[in-house]
Amino acid sequence: MLVTRQPCIKQANKHKQGKSMSDCCANSSSKVTVQACPQCGTACKSVEMPTLYHQVRFPENQGIISDTYYFCPSKDCATAYFSISGNSVPKQQLKTHQDIQNDKLCYCFDIGAADYLSALSTNHAEAIKNFVMQRTKSGECTCGLRNPSGQCCLARFKQLEKGHSPAVG
Ligand SMILES: [Zn+2]
Repeated sequence: MLVTRQPCIKQANKHKQGKSMSDCCANSSSKVTVQACPQCGTACKSVEMPTLYHQVRFPENQGIISDTYYFCPSKDCATAYFSISGNSVPKQQLKTHQDIQNDKLCYCFDIGAADYLSALSTNHAEAIKNFVMQRTKSGECTCGLRNPSGQCCLARFKQLEKGHSPAVG
């Protein structure tokens, strides 16, 4: 029998509750907490175990110890996930290792930060963001699994917009 892909039920429910777009598909079952990365000191948000299991490559994924993990978003830091009790996974073991180095913005729809910045300078950014927002609204994004942070990427779209000074005129 064919198994149809369905958006995560938790996500779908959350959309119905009319949450803001930026946290539409953020971890919903438990509250996100923050810890400093033991290697670089960056403030890191907690991720859930399904994120690790989808991010870590074979065969390292076989040896992941269940724990409360945090993701270090710094691309210069070798640590991907760490727990307070000392478990850790290096970024090199992630399927998204190269994407992190290339500053991927949206892992669900393969949009790079550079793509979005260049769209901002040519006034094509609106259409790209609307596409992502529309897909997200329809429950067609899977940030919790595809994004190594487990977080929705839309907040980062906003950060890039803020950092981008529009061309004069
Ligand atoms: Zn770090």
